Amino acid sequence: MFSKILIANRGEIACRIAKTAKRLGISVVAVYSEADAGSRHVSMADEAYCIGPPPAKDSYLRGDAIIEVAKKSGAQAIHPGYGFLSENDAFAEACAKAGLVFIGPPPSAIRAMGLKSAAKALMEKAGVPLVPGYHGDKQDPAFLRTEADKIGYPVLIKASAGGGGKGMRVVEKGGDFVEALASCQREAKASFGDDQVLIEKYLTRPRHIEIQVFADTRGQCVYLFERDCSVQRRHQKVLEEAPAPGMQPDRRKAMGAAAVAAAQAVGYVGAGTVEFIANQDGSFYFMEMNTRLQVEHPVTEMITGLDLVHWQLQVAAGLPLPLTQDQVKINGHSIEARVYAENPAKNFLPSTGLLKHVRTPEAVEFEGAMVQPPASVRVDSGVRPGDTISPYYDPMIAKLIVWGEDRGVALARLARALGEFEVVGVSTNIAFLGRVVKSRAFSSGDLDTGLIERNRDELFAPASGPRDDVLALAAFAEFTLSGWTATQRGKTTDEPNSPWHLVDGWRLNEQPHHTIVFVEDDQSTAVTLVRAASGMRMRTGSADYALSGKMSPDGALRIELDGRSVGGRAVRVGSEWSIFLGGEQHRLALKDDLHELESDAHGGTLAAPMPGKIIAVLVAKGARVEKGTPLVILEAMKMEHTITAPRAGTVASIRFAPGEQVDEGVDLLTLED
Ligand code: ADP
Ligand code: ADP
Ligand code: MG
Repeated sequence: MFSKILIANRGEIACRIAKTAKRLGISVVAVYSEADAGSRHVSMADEAYCIGPPPAKDSYLRGDAIIEVAKKSGAQAIHPGYGFLSENDAFAEACAKAGLVFIGPPPSAIRAMGLKSAAKALMEKAGVPLVPGYHGDKQDPAFLRTEADKIGYPVLIKASAGGGGKGMRVVEKGGDFVEALASCQREAKASFGDDQVLIEKYLTRPRHIEIQVFADTRGQCVYLFERDCSVQRRHQKVLEEAPAPGMQPDRRKAMGAAAVAAAQAVGYVGAGTVEFIANQDGSFYFMEMNTRLQVEHPVTEMITGLDLVHWQLQVAAGLPLPLTQDQVKINGHSIEARVYAENPAKNFLPSTGLLKHVRTPEAVEFEGAMVQPPASVRVDSGVRPGDTISPYYDPMIAKLIVWGEDRGVALARLARALGEFEVVGVSTNIAFLGRVVKSRAFSSGDLDTGLIERNRDELFAPASGPRDDVLALAAFAEFTLSGWTATQRGKTTDEPNSPWHLVDGWRLNEQPHHTIVFVEDDQSTAVTLVRAASGMRMRTGSADYALSGKMSPDGALRIELDGRSVGGRAVRVGSEWSIFLGGEQHRLALKDDLHELESDAHGGTLAAPMPGKIIAVLVAKGARVEKGTPLVILEAMKMEHTITAPRAGTVASIRFAPGEQVDEGVDLLTLED
């Protein structure tokens, strides 16, 4: 076994790998970009080296610099994590040349599976079932259009080199094909440096079911069952679980055998995932193989009790697989939720900023291999309160993983844990995840990749304006905090015993009533707290309630609102209260301090929603545009964003050309009425 390894990654996966290494007594070398100097993965390492500026291409993708650090520090092996260099065959090869072990498959296996089109051709030969489509080399638009017509619409255009749900376009009808192809190729070129595409029949209501495989250098290969990753947004996984709901033992065996055949066809070694797309009738087709550890590997760990990173290290060190196929068993059910800094209501636009407050659900810490009994709640995270979600990397905050004796128990634990997960400072998908988990579609286990889109109305709750219970919690919290502040102030004056410093709950302006104005979703609401003989009353609009309660210093609140007991939590950051109630976060700004509010409302403006690169300018100076006309395409955080005209007008000036980098908030062009 190794005594020192280098982790060529960042964020939660670098921390995850470091945990296992430390448990095994292996020293950890971290690398980091200038943006990550103070990050959690650096603090967990025994040694850490800066490898360059924030953009990944200048740091985490610099294989040469990373290999140099490995040699200098005396690391024997490099773990690439996922993303970045994990599926880069040239890097794997360079490691070997430098005398370092690449903790992953041989370069030839990465190469064989690297391009989806070449991989499909290979799988066809190995007898693995494929989705009908075209995966040849001919790329001229007219030819591809004919192939698409032959397959029959809808079809899916996919970047051969694609990943992370990027570089895919669904085409509903022939007339849309050429435009979709151009946009797909542009994204593929920009993201993967390769614009080759393939075309597949777009299946309706399919499930994404993948098989975890593991092979050693001695010719053994096993499958560690399946994961269902059907719940997706923009073709990216949101919730993953194991085992797949409704999976029959014979189907599992057939898929496992197909996955092992796929791995063996390319001489696979280490951890890999064979992704299948499955029809509701259970028929399944090979989609791609990910030749690395997968983001969602923890659900497999939870149901098998195995530490997959430990297995990776053992295989890389030339040891045999610890267990045979007959020895691996499924125990219970596990679900993972990916917690992202993003705004579901704005088409999941990534959100950047300082994590001003983070409170994770009470986690039973994961201790690695053979957790017996399994941890019921596990949080894999790469950030701490006070860290920043930057525009340079994936906006993941954490993975929340639960285990239960069966799916029902796991679901209940997940719903509860999501309700306990609080983040202030960036928008998150936590409440959205909670709604998905509690939805009928998800809880019944009737999964397919269209689940989120089909249930939009239920899952994307419209902004409802402030509710009385939320207002009451916020008002009570503000009132209590003012009281505490007054007490603190009293303690520091010359007259600590002055009756003016008494905390009788009426310190707010020393008046018998006090009005607070909250702003939620651009809507102002005045709340007046009144001292009456019978106790405190809250008035808002024409409503009048009896209000009493208790708040603890950590923000836990319990109030009585006209006899109704409401429990929630309140966190004040700057001049804004975040009220956490029933799994939803409500942000109520105090009106007096509105100037302190950072606005993240870029909708309807011509400003860049985040720092990024201009990919295309779609209009010329002097052009007449209608409201909603696409103007500029910006690439930021690995996504394309289209800036559309907020109103009709004439393009007066264009400030940037394609290829230029822009800062957040700068106007990209000007419109004249
Ligand atoms: P999984 O199938 O495990 O969810 P994904 O394909 O979604 O994996 O991507 C795994 C990780 O790699 C994600 O964190 C994603 O952001 C990152 N990733 C995927 N493609 C790229 C890419 N082209 N460049 C950088 N990171 C990528
Ligand atoms: P990536 O490399 O980005 O992970 P995949 O080929 O694995 O790309 O596809 C990602 C997702 O897109 C799948 O999980 C599935 O939801 C959807 N998808 C892919 N191929 C098809 C298809 N032929 N029909 C319907 N959906 C598909
Ligand atoms: Mg995939």
